[in-house]
Amino acid sequence: MPGAREAARAALARALRVAALTGAGVSAASGVPTFRGPGGLWRGRRPEELATPAAWARDPEEVWAWYRSRFEALRAAAPNDAHRSLAALARRTRLTLVTQNVDGLHRRAGSEAVIELHGDITRALCERCGARWGLEPGFAIPPRCGRCGGRGRPNAVWFGEALPRDGLERAAEAFAACEVALVVGTSALVEPAASLGRLAARAGAYVIEINPEPTPLTAFADASLRCGAVEGLRSLLPEDDRA
Ligand code: NAD
Ligand code: ZN
Repeated sequence: MPGAREAARAALARALRVAALTGAGVSAASGVPTFRGPGGLWRGRRPEELATPAAWARDPEEVWAWYRSRFEALRAAAPNDAHRSLAALARRTRLTLVTQNVDGLHRRAGSEAVIELHGDITRALCERCGARWGLEPGFAIPPRCGRCGGRGRPNAVWFGEALPRDGLERAAEAFAACEVALVVGTSALVEPAASLGRLAARAGAYVIEINPEPTPLTAFADASLRCGAVEGLRSLLPEDDRA
């Protein structure tokens, strides 16, 4: 759809208020596997079996071992040009950046105000007092809270848990009020990813999806770019903003 790409590019060039939602696909080029793609399994288990309160209740050691291996893998990963393009976009527009990713790569690329709907796995969360702290390489399992000695759990929102209300509200407001919505690298199967793009479409925004595969959002999008996040974002931005 070369026409769609040009139209999307023009819509973005005119926009002042932009809302972006990113998923695991944005970090694929950094070597961080998506859950449903190749490399998504861990010791033969699916993430849906490990990222749950039930798994935590049954075997916290195993859950931590999985998160620690992801944490260690992240230390070797670096932000890619898709993360950097979105950081650059924030310098030209009023961008609200919302992510489902827990890898912290948007922040490492310079997006400070990113709304991390699912937390971030570079930190632990105290089960007793709610404190959060950064994990160190080779940390002991389970990590203990420096403030109260309570047991730390991964600072991630698990399947079946509530998302942070403040972040959700700000995300919904931004998608309802933006001129252009960008939905990049998410399967748009779970809430609120499924509804944020549709919310923007209903409110009259120009909705751009970047994903090599069709998703439930495709039907609502004004432009669907069937490519990777790096290439898609690069093709949408003016040369000065390109990472
Ligand atoms: P997902 O794994 O369900 O879907 C990833 C999507 O990215 C798919 O639709 C796929 O077609 C697309 N994709 C694959 N390669 C791409 C590329 N190079 N460019 C653009 N798109 C690409 O992930 P999800 O829908 O984001 O959600 C699953 C949950 O898993 C998330 O909520 C998140 O918390 C967690 N997760 C996070 C990370 C991370 O932080 N990097 C990685 C895996 C899973
Ligand atoms: Zn504590």
